[in-house]
Amino acid sequence: KKIILSGMQPSGKLTLGNYIGAMKNWVALQDEYDCHYCIVDLHAITVPQIPKDLRRTTLEVLAQYIASGIDPDKNTIFIQSHVPEHLQLAWILNSMTYMGELNRMTQFKDKSQKKAENLNAGLYTYPVLMAADILLYGTHLVPVGEDQKQHLELARDLAQRFNSRYSDTFVIPEPFIPKEGARIMSLQDPSQKMSKSDENPNGPISMIEEPDIIMSKVKKSVTDSLGVISYNDEQKGIKNLINIYSSITGESVGDIVNRYEGKGYGDFKKDVAEVIIEGLRPVREKYHELLDNKDYLEQVYTNGAEKARKKAFKTVNKVYRKVGFVLR
Ligand code: ATP
Ligand code: MG
Repeated sequence: KKIILSGMQPSGKLTLGNYIGAMKNWVALQDEYDCHYCIVDLHAITVPQIPKDLRRTTLEVLAQYIASGIDPDKNTIFIQSHVPEHLQLAWILNSMTYMGELNRMTQFKDKSQKKAENLNAGLYTYPVLMAADILLYGTHLVPVGEDQKQHLELARDLAQRFNSRYSDTFVIPEPFIPKEGARIMSLQDPSQKMSKSDENPNGPISMIEEPDIIMSKVKKSVTDSLGVISYNDEQKGIKNLINIYSSITGESVGDIVNRYEGKGYGDFKKDVAEVIIEGLRPVREKYHELLDNKDYLEQVYTNGAEKARKKAFKTVNKVYRKVGFVLR
């Protein structure tokens, strides 16, 4: 079976963007592949987190994974900080990464502009830790949204670099980016991607949002004054709503545009909200059941960490030996 790895940061409530761009894919892949889904808490602290919130959010993200349909018996679900090998490999990869490569990363540029007061080295080397996450498990495929494509390129380059500098060690991972819904945009600024760490609470819709909040956020979403429902880059807000509608229902963009010809934005927004509400309803209900069962969640992450560590340990040993460290 081919190996898959992906993860989300416990930096807030998972969004509709995370769901459409990544999570729905994860669920579809779990029967065919050997999947590793982690909650990347080490990545999350590259922007300031309040400790008690981080602890709670980590468990909430775990519950959201399972509520979305990720089966703990079929997949390895774990918390990144439980597997210290991620850090061990990251250090070695850090020592083979050029600053020029990291300077080009758009996520660093975006996030450092927004958080200029906390420009830390962790945010800068984030893509290297992500490369370690991936390479540690011999990952073939990485299901991510468009925004992570550049980071995945770096993981590929580092794998190749290590393989040619030492000897064949790492699988070269491939991105697995969905065609539909690869990049869901903020409802308040459709030129920016929807992010769970957005400071404007009306920008993202959470995966477990209550129906009335979904309705009001979609109604308030920023569109344009053209008043015509069509799919183009001049109407980013409407385009984004069409993308959301299409990704959830599976109906093609063309069919949606035809059906709403001559209709107003108000009607369309209401329908989009209904589609989101119905699409997320089962996830939200399951999520609340799971949060009441902390023992079960603990059992899932404990088992996951054990499974993950067995593989991760082997990889790090091999890498240490090749690099020239004396093994004990
Ligand atoms: P943060 O703002 O803290 O970076 P995020 O919403 O970007 O949070 P991540 O944890 O960084 O979420 O990413 C988790 C996964 O979700 C990744 O695979 C990423 O590609 C995907 N993803 C994130 N935002 C979107 C989006 N707007 N549209 C589609 N996919 C997305
Ligand atoms: Mg992100």
